[in-house]
Amino acid sequence: MTLRVEGESDVVREFVHEARRAGKKVGVVMTMGALHEGHLSLVEVANRDCDATVVSVFVNPTQFGPHEDFEKYPRQLEADLRALSSSSVDVVFAPTVDQMYGDGHSTSVCAPSISEPWEGRCRPGHFDGVATVVLKLLQIVPADVAYFGNKDYQQVQVIRAMVRDLHVGTRIVGCPILRDPDGLAKSSRNAYMTDDERAQALALSQGLSAAAELFKMGERGSAALAARIRQQLAGAGITKIDYIAVVDSDTLVEKPNAGADSIALIASYVGETRLIDNCRLGDGPIVAP
Ligand code: AMP
Repeated sequence: MTLRVEGESDVVREFVHEARRAGKKVGVVMTMGALHEGHLSLVEVANRDCDATVVSVFVNPTQFGPHEDFEKYPRQLEADLRALSSSSVDVVFAPTVDQMYGDGHSTSVCAPSISEPWEGRCRPGHFDGVATVVLKLLQIVPADVAYFGNKDYQQVQVIRAMVRDLHVGTRIVGCPILRDPDGLAKSSRNAYMTDDERAQALALSQGLSAAAELFKMGERGSAALAARIRQQLAGAGITKIDYIAVVDSDTLVEKPNAGADSIALIASYVGETRLIDNCRLGDGPIVAP
């Protein structure tokens, strides 16, 4: 299997068209690089489900706010290519910012209403940038299926709604969150943390686990479940919290009572690093609380 690095959108689009004309099912995994096992788990699912897999590596400037980490976001294409070389990826699409947003670029997608709460409120414009780049990438890589991680749960819901609303022909699949053995959700941003901060960050998965345990024991009050998460974060000295919420998994609306399908969402800072995590309460604890 040849791993080709392309920044030319026409070449990649033609590769996808040709593969589909030949009756192949094409999958795409979109990433910002700094690949870890979480990304590779999406590639594995794509490889399993599809006959050809395209991976994109692009740190998308339009989804970062003016005071966010666009400049310092890790960029390591060579290491990413090494990480992908053992999986059967057909094409790596790694464009430059100019190739994606050329001179005179002025069209963008206004993200669907499900983008408004939670991340959308904390990161104004973020989901417009995500929706825009995902639609652009789907124009270049018109795959049968696109695989996204449930780690960014609201992002998957935003992309599902955008694809539905704009009649995009690609099916969207959400994949499980990959974690370190101690529960920390894998993330390119984990590299920003010191050892002490990483230890503190375990409170996120522990808090989610504690809430899932409470749910298993019969607690249904969303406020009580969220309070249990908040208590775990406070115990670890995490005080800068963007949100903790127990929401409906389809609508992301907070309801007084949780069900097995409800999702607990967290966004908080550990030191300077902003982390997000979530779990489906009905799935039970991630780690022993
Ligand atoms: P990113 O490079 O952070 O934009 O992530 C690219 C894709 O990988 C997104 O669909 C993420 O949700 C997914 N992803 C990131 N971390 C994980 C993880 N720990 N487990 C599963 N998927 C992940």
